Amino acid sequence: MKIRSIKVYHVAMPLKNAWCTAYGEDDCIESILVCMTGGENQGWGESSPLRAPTYSSEWARGVFIIVRDWLAPQLIGQDVTSGKQLQGLLSWVKGNYFAKGGLDLAWWDLYARSQGKPLWKLVGGRTSAVDVGADIGVMESLDALLVEIDKTQEAGFKRIKLKYRPGWDLNMLSAVREKFPDVIIHVDCNGAYTLSDISMFRHLDCYDLAMIEQPLAHDDLFDHAKLQQNIHTPVCLDESIVSLEKARKAIELKACRWVNIKPCRVGGLTNALAIHDLCQDAGVPCWVGGMLESAVGQAHNLALATLPNIRYPSDIFPSSRFYRHDLAEPEIVLSGPSQITATDEPGIGCEPHPERLQRHLIEMAVIE
Ligand code: MG
Repeated sequence: MKIRSIKVYHVAMPLKNAWCTAYGEDDCIESILVCMTGGENQGWGESSPLRAPTYSSEWARGVFIIVRDWLAPQLIGQDVTSGKQLQGLLSWVKGNYFAKGGLDLAWWDLYARSQGKPLWKLVGGRTSAVDVGADIGVMESLDALLVEIDKTQEAGFKRIKLKYRPGWDLNMLSAVREKFPDVIIHVDCNGAYTLSDISMFRHLDCYDLAMIEQPLAHDDLFDHAKLQQNIHTPVCLDESIVSLEKARKAIELKACRWVNIKPCRVGGLTNALAIHDLCQDAGVPCWVGGMLESAVGQAHNLALATLPNIRYPSDIFPSSRFYRHDLAEPEIVLSGPSQITATDEPGIGCEPHPERLQRHLIEMAVIE
């Protein structure tokens, strides 16, 4: 399948409410959408590293430039027949996983559409229905948080994830556990702590958490291994796992007992699948995270979440959770309590809505 053209879009999607975490506050999500044309088909990918380099060292405008100037030109005119081949063509560029991810995901959608198959079936998914959880950011008050958790319980979510940071930590969790003693909960620290906080993490063992997500620095493995040796609650790595190599080292070091896989964080679906398989062979269960993408990015995440070693409800959300209107259509909707179902249409089964893409556009480029 010869790649004829690649269009790159840098967009800003306004959120219904500001999203507040340990790394900062966003009132819109800046994302990169990639449209790849090959043969008679088009495929869409999305990579959402956020506006500023606060979640990782990558950021939306930086990803746009790397894709436009360095990565996309490598693919034009190439007959790409596998994700591995595509990754090989991009491998001369060091790092820049989010940038590579946008292109890799667009290729997978293009490939699945050219085969006339839903992406989730093409990658070996078991069943189209996927368990999903609720994710609650740092809120203005404990009362507001408890009301929000109440809503997730009424809606039947199988687990809740709470953002956790200095000042919104043990007191918050103690109030939540008092009111909701039996709910499956985990916390996401987004790298806000260091090993000097080890006594706080030992104390977290009392709260019966499913896991502690990314407690220490975004690029660390070694200290996470030390922390895991000292606490009973499983550590889950998110930010630290940017590649198959990092996943292998994390497993060898025993730095975590869970891995959160985000296709765009690890350079695309090709690498996400490899990490999934590596973890499965090592007996390390996974689940799928998200970056508040539009339905395009979430549809890719959904395809990954149909795989057998995804063993915890994923961070895939109905579009209405964060957006008044999703940039893409059809929107992501719940298909049951705590459940979203992958499409039976070819590829990811969704595309940006042309008018909304224009409305939210910051910059675009065509590489042919
Ligand atoms: Mg996380």
